[in-house]
Amino acid sequence: MSADAVVEVSGLRKRFGAVVAVDSLSFSVERGTVVGLLGANGAGKTTTLRMLLGLIRPNAGTIVVLGEPIVFGAKVLARVGSFVEGPGFIPHVSGRHNLELYWRAGGRRAGPAHIDEALATAGLDSVAGRAVKTYSHGMKQRLAFAQALLGKPELLVLDEPANGLDPKQIVFMREALTGLARKGTTILLSSHLLWEVEQTCDKVVVVDQGRLVKSGTVAEVTKSASSAYIEADDIDRAFEALRHVMGIISVSHAPPGIVVKLGTARRCDIVQALVAHGISVETVMARHSLESAFLEMVAPPEDEVAGPGGEPFTSGADHSAADHSGNGNGVLL
Ligand code: ATP
Repeated sequence: MSADAVVEVSGLRKRFGAVVAVDSLSFSVERGTVVGLLGANGAGKTTTLRMLLGLIRPNAGTIVVLGEPIVFGAKVLARVGSFVEGPGFIPHVSGRHNLELYWRAGGRRAGPAHIDEALATAGLDSVAGRAVKTYSHGMKQRLAFAQALLGKPELLVLDEPANGLDPKQIVFMREALTGLARKGTTILLSSHLLWEVEQTCDKVVVVDQGRLVKSGTVAEVTKSASSAYIEADDIDRAFEALRHVMGIISVSHAPPGIVVKLGTARRCDIVQALVAHGISVETVMARHSLESAFLEMVAPPEDEVAGPGGEPFTSGADHSAADHSGNGNGVLL
């Protein structure tokens, strides 16, 4: 274990009946970093986080947190703040009182809860006296975040912290997380929001069907991926035309355009091919994003047909379409 590793996961495996949810998974989280666990639905993210918190027992492998092995009720978990399970707040009780009750009922540890600071970090100080039943979904999500922050944990483990937040709250959450990391808190989060992960995380751990696909900094993970987003006057004809261009891995619809995963072909080859078919190209955008990298790493969706190199061509919509709106809301897998 490296001296700076706050979390060290090694050879982790969890099976539910015939389903292997997590398989031979190893990764580490260094002190003061924000690490994003990325994967499609059912990839094994929540199961991994639940094992890390001692909530379920792995079939094989080890997890060491802050130098101590994780078992159910491990003492070191008192130094970890989390939300993975729904927090279950009492609706008619205020946000602040909910946190007080949680802490008094055992919270995670003895010592001061730092409730005011947690509420402020979660941006809830002005509404902390209101009953939780009057909170929006985003406010409840931030109250769960505040609860995870009680007692100033050294490690935060958060399952989809941006889930259900609007774009403004997502930016708020991003700044809160990076601010905590700057002050030395280590954060492991899972997310579907690739754009968010790209903005927030120092390192990503990509899992697919329970197995590690790749880990490293966002730059390391994205460097091999290359795609182009294209808009043209006749997008259906463009889609068809590109099926016959060598060096393209796949083409998928991303309304109003298409996304082309590049193999050996360059963007200029694509433009030339389209122009040769009499198609006017209106937009060409390079994408070397985490999104492109992710799509190349994980298993393709089921509605794909083969391209010239035997590789798939997606006939359905590309739900990973670039965030052209620029609203920072990111890509929902
Ligand atoms: P999502 O983003 O949809 O939450 P995930 O990456 O968090 O997905 P997990 O919830 O860890 O994925 O699930 C991984 C696999 O294990 C899935 O196939 C899921 O159906 C299965 N699974 C998870 N928990 C259980 C359980 N308690 N019993 C049976 N199967 C389970």
